[in-house]
Amino acid sequence: MNLKEANAALLLSAHYDELTGLPNRTLLSDRMQQAMIKCQRNKQSMAVAFIDLDGFKWINDSYGHSVGDQFLRLITQKLKQSLREGDTLARIGGDEFVAVIDELGLPEDAHKVLWRLLEAAANELNINGNRLKTTASIGVTFYPENNCSPDQLLRSADQAMYKAKQLGKDCWHIFDIQEDVAVKSKIEEIERIRLALYNEEFVLFYQPKIDLRSKQLIGMEALIRWNHPEQGILPPVAFLPIIEHDLLSIELGEWVIHTALEQLECWRSSSLEVPISVNISPMQLQSSDFVSRLEHMLNKFPSRNLNNLEFEILESSALEDIDLATEVINLCKKLGVKFSIDDFGTGYSSLAYLRRLPINLLKIDREFVFDMLSRTQDSIIINSTIALAHNLRLQVVAEGVEDKATLRRLRKMGCDYAQGYTICKPKTWPEIETWLEESPEFFT
Ligand code: C2E
Ligand code: MG
Ligand code: MG
Repeated sequence: MNLKEANAALLLSAHYDELTGLPNRTLLSDRMQQAMIKCQRNKQSMAVAFIDLDGFKWINDSYGHSVGDQFLRLITQKLKQSLREGDTLARIGGDEFVAVIDELGLPEDAHKVLWRLLEAAANELNINGNRLKTTASIGVTFYPENNCSPDQLLRSADQAMYKAKQLGKDCWHIFDIQEDVAVKSKIEEIERIRLALYNEEFVLFYQPKIDLRSKQLIGMEALIRWNHPEQGILPPVAFLPIIEHDLLSIELGEWVIHTALEQLECWRSSSLEVPISVNISPMQLQSSDFVSRLEHMLNKFPSRNLNNLEFEILESSALEDIDLATEVINLCKKLGVKFSIDDFGTGYSSLAYLRRLPINLLKIDREFVFDMLSRTQDSIIINSTIALAHNLRLQVVAEGVEDKATLRRLRKMGCDYAQGYTICKPKTWPEIETWLEESPEFFT
């Protein structure tokens, strides 16, 4: 081989796949770039189809690599035949191929070719007397509809191919740009919240709860706020739903418990003994190491101020796995932590679970409290809930009490405790201190 021939061979091996003679990843990238320029010039579209053979690994493992190689060579021919002159077919991995289908007037014009590719991949092939067959899962993305680099186009098509596999294989699936944008922006939002936790941008507000008979303060609910550097104080609805299904919600929940414990410690040193109730998210309650992590946190506080820590859980999170919830509540109770069911009445309110769960308290949802004076239905529901709770030896808190008349009515109904704007809005600790000093008159 002379130098010229050797150079040509080298060039060939740098751009072509040895087994099938198809362009490799490097040449594919080149071809895609050219096709993209052509698309822009002619105002046309092109499709990038990521083809993965279903079940090829089984052929390779069962019949050996030599049969596998022959299979790939033959299937390459079939795939090529289903493409048009000028389209590119490349091999970029073991059983992974990419077809670039350009000069499309409309993206839909590629559908015929995609069906043909599926058919081609599903051909039964005879190799050394063995009748072998695979199918293909194809992921597709279109340029310039998906306006990005060749590399990113391949990644999008690859992602769509995985979706095709999930959808049962032997099919093609088109990459969903909108869904991808939504997923990416959600990831960014979650990361921003993680950063906020790291930067200590979260704060706890406290809202007092009072005893309707003695008018004494009986506890505070810790309510999280995001002190956003640009947007100011944000309520939980602005960020908790975003991380609801992410592990970050557990981390943030632990921060809330930890901060509440610090606050209790601080109150203790100024001889204020008020329980704090903390809202626990469903994911946190159901996390496998909830109790052991709680114990670990408690051990950092020498006084183990446990009798003053309470948890509020939602009906729905208790009901999702009632056995687990019962176990967790029992373990926490042993540590001294009390439980209440929050937003009671908005879930299933099944009596069977109420009887089983070892809770101490029910919080009647504010939905029923707002208009109880004008809506008989709501007042009936509240009356029945109080009776039911007391029969089950549970105490009742009414939340969202916005006026004195409602407060008086609740007391007459026998409701034990109340919480709401008419008593005190959720405030920062220094503001609550002022509120305590002013010792407000609740009933006039
Ligand atoms: P929730 O536990 O039912 O808390 C009561 C909500 O009612 C609070 O809203 C409180 O500010 C509001 N509220 C209290 N009194 C009144 C009133 O008289 N009128 C009206 N209209 N509203 C009143 P917030 O602070 O926006 O919290 C909303 C929800 O976010 C909470 O509902 C709770 O489920 C959740 N949340 C708050 N902090 C945390 C937390 O640290 N962890 C978890 N997992 N969830 C939290
Ligand atoms: Mg609550
Ligand atoms: Mg509530």
